[in-house]
Amino acid sequence: MTFHGVRGSTACHGEETARFGGNTSCVGIDAPGEPLVLFDLGTGSRYAAVDAGREVICLVTHLHWDHIQGLPFFPPMLDQASRITVCAPAPVDGVPLGEKMAAIIREPVFPVGLDSFPARPDFVGLDAGQRMIGGVAVSSAEVRHVGRTLGYRVDLCGISVGYVSDHQQPMDGSGPDPEVIDLCRGVDLLIHDSQYTAVELAGRPDWGHCTPEFALDVARAADARHLVMFHHDPERSDCQLDEMVEVHCHSTSPRVTVARERATIELLAG
Ligand SMILES: [Zn+2]
Ligand SMILES: [Zn+2]
Repeated sequence: MTFHGVRGSTACHGEETARFGGNTSCVGIDAPGEPLVLFDLGTGSRYAAVDAGREVICLVTHLHWDHIQGLPFFPPMLDQASRITVCAPAPVDGVPLGEKMAAIIREPVFPVGLDSFPARPDFVGLDAGQRMIGGVAVSSAEVRHVGRTLGYRVDLCGISVGYVSDHQQPMDGSGPDPEVIDLCRGVDLLIHDSQYTAVELAGRPDWGHCTPEFALDVARAADARHLVMFHHDPERSDCQLDEMVEVHCHSTSPRVTVARERATIELLAG
């Protein structure tokens, strides 16, 4: 797995964020002989290299900018032979997902329309459930956020990965929803929102995010083996993320890692 973008909300740059990286959400699962699976299409997706002709399955959690802005810059979009499937929550207003995306990638907010790209992605609106996409087992569940959002689980080559990029922590102190725990049950790796400190969450109680401690609650309730703290606030400096490593990464149950751009994690079945 490779982390192409680990930020939430908006891309950022500068000396204070250079080590952990400034691109928004995009994580690739690159299993030999399988389609490339990408979680989200934030600005990091520009750095996701895809061999010509290889099938790509993009699992987009929701349509906020930090999860889709990379699509027009995703390299396979410039290749007519690309085989790209983009899945995202079925829009609540009933408009097909492809029309929704075409309305986002067009003049005046982008120089050309989606239909001007050589590649012709398939857009698939999803609900909660389980299905096979390009031979890959993909599960999804509704996740509390701002606007309709899905979390995903991919089971591939004997490995399971959960991805819950944006997750509203309940402010009444109740725990994670059972649907999310079920989705992530027993995964080898869980990539989870950890955007706010407790103080920040108190000041932004309905902005759709959670603390690293809540991410740990989800991971423990689901019995995930390895938690990756993800979707860092654009204000979060490298030094603060070093502190997050110090505070949380001594845990062995689950193992905890703080997401860093360009980092790879090797997952072996068995
Ligand atoms: Zn986000
Ligand atoms: Zn969002």
